[in-house]
Amino acid sequence: MLTPFREIIRDAHLRHYAVGAFNCLSLEHVMGALSAAEELRAPIILQLAEVQFPEAPMEWMAPLFLRAAHEATVPVAVHLDHGRSIETCIRAIRAGFNSVMFDGAALPLEENIARSALIARLAHAAGVDVEAELGRVGDTGFGGEGTGDSSAADIFTDVEESARFLAETEVDALAIAIGNLHGRYIATPQLNIARLAEINARNRTPLVLHGGSGTSEADFKASIRNGICKINVATALQVAATEQTERYLATDAAPDYIGIKRCAIEASRRSVAYHIRLFESDGKA
Ligand SMILES: [Zn+2]
Repeated sequence: MLTPFREIIRDAHLRHYAVGAFNCLSLEHVMGALSAAEELRAPIILQLAEVQFPEAPMEWMAPLFLRAAHEATVPVAVHLDHGRSIETCIRAIRAGFNSVMFDGAALPLEENIARSALIARLAHAAGVDVEAELGRVGDTGFGGEGTGDSSAADIFTDVEESARFLAETEVDALAIAIGNLHGRYIATPQLNIARLAEINARNRTPLVLHGGSGTSEADFKASIRNGICKINVATALQVAATEQTERYLATDAAPDYIGIKRCAIEASRRSVAYHIRLFESDGKA
């Protein structure tokens, strides 16, 4: 069932697990994700990033996400990932997304606060929840949902700035930078769990981890123990679908398009199921 973002992450916050937020670019991704979530009785978030609009136009994807959410037997939120402007967030609200992320992390702090606060005010008036970002989550340069900026990967979220940011913006969730990166990692990153613990101790707002495609299982577990309630997974679904399709094309005697679609659905289902178990959201719906 379509469920408010805030309700989904609040439950994760109270019961100490993280909700998987999966970037879905196609019908196959959505079908695979929903089938895994229902099988494992897990709440999930279907999301689309602005950088993905050329391959998955937001106004076309919104009805698909919403219909899937309505028909699902588990809680599903429909979320805009990495909106770059107020205009994109308003478009997403009109299209029916029940939460939006505004990514002002590249802006000077005052500007990020001012724009995030304005979007929170506008979205809340429409009954839509808001995620913002503080500190820079860079990009590896291989896929992912981010902005393609690989220059600022080592700028961690500041503890006192996070408290000020949350008090002044009133956003519902905060994405933080603790050494995580978007895209496909070359080497497994080491997350700054000590910094995460400090940010979590200083605030009560649920925290979000972006770049969930290559982090070690131990770091995921430590993140969840220290306040991460939502983890974004984008690249892993694309990699899984590509690899399964490659195997199918290499081994099947008479491959066809229906077979390719089935590969994408099945690979998405398996990848989402793996992440749901890892994030301990199975059995929580
Ligand atoms: Zn992100």
